Amino acid sequence: MNKLPIANRMPFLIPRRFPAVRLSQNGSHALLYHTFSERHRPYYCNVTTYEKFYRDILLLKKQFMFSNALERMELNERELDGASEQKQGSRGTIYLTFDDSYRSILPVLAFCHANDIPTSIFVNTYLFENQTLLPKDKLFQALRHAPRPAALTFLNETVAMKNNSLLFRDYLAMRWNRRAMATLSYSDYEKEINTFFSACPFAPRDPDPDLAMMTPDDLRHIAQDLPSVRILSHGRSHFDLSRADTASLEQDIAGSKKTLEHMLGRAVSMFAYPYGFYSEATLEAVKRAGYTHAIAAGIDDQAQGPRALTLPRTSIDTRALSVL
Ligand SMILES: [Zn+2]
Repeated sequence: MNKLPIANRMPFLIPRRFPAVRLSQNGSHALLYHTFSERHRPYYCNVTTYEKFYRDILLLKKQFMFSNALERMELNERELDGASEQKQGSRGTIYLTFDDSYRSILPVLAFCHANDIPTSIFVNTYLFENQTLLPKDKLFQALRHAPRPAALTFLNETVAMKNNSLLFRDYLAMRWNRRAMATLSYSDYEKEINTFFSACPFAPRDPDPDLAMMTPDDLRHIAQDLPSVRILSHGRSHFDLSRADTASLEQDIAGSKKTLEHMLGRAVSMFAYPYGFYSEATLEAVKRAGYTHAIAAGIDDQAQGPRALTLPRTSIDTRALSVL
């Protein structure tokens, strides 16, 4: 009889279990969340249950201060270098950040605001274009529900991906989605995804609530009624900007800044790279557009470039938190 643990027998079906995130008590940590759900969805894109988030907040509140002045992270690091003894024993700082403009974060933002916890959201200006799903999530939703031949035809013909014989649909859709998004080009990916989406008769027409983007009115409500929430840019359509040409970079990075500033009536000085990916040209475009700071998505080891434009974050989502 096979005594191997189930995860070893089915390595492709069981998602990797990420280790708990360990936060040092006197450090500064920018934490990254995405969407929220009532139910646990292990194969879904970056989803946290509301229950887990409120548990995280209780744990963090005991040990840390909260701030949304993300620019301070750069200064904190310099202070730490110069006076590490002084810093010992003092409380660290948590910067709560939320990416991808999901509507499901509204109760979380209201909760944080009511509890004097400042937050930052990095939004995609695609939401101003009469859209309810980001292209990546539209593709994910369609892939989950598409009849298998349709999904495979799309993947083989459009993004030249190899056939995959596994059956676990959510998990597969997630993997397929990542591969497809890494292959499609900026100029045609919205069109390709829309064509595939409309050709999927079984794909629900309405967005899954866990993936739905906030509306322009939601964003206006946040700007007016929740002054402790900082609204910053995550680009336009969540394309991997390390692969975009100059014109697309301009459109996405400078364009999203302009749109947000027009709505908010104030400067938007910080950018978060979609997927955390950037290249030399991305950094240049961010500087050119007039952002003073930019932040990654939890992948600190690729940080190359000025610190102000490559601030680190720790991605949380389903992962457990522990404090050292
Ligand atoms: Zn994102």
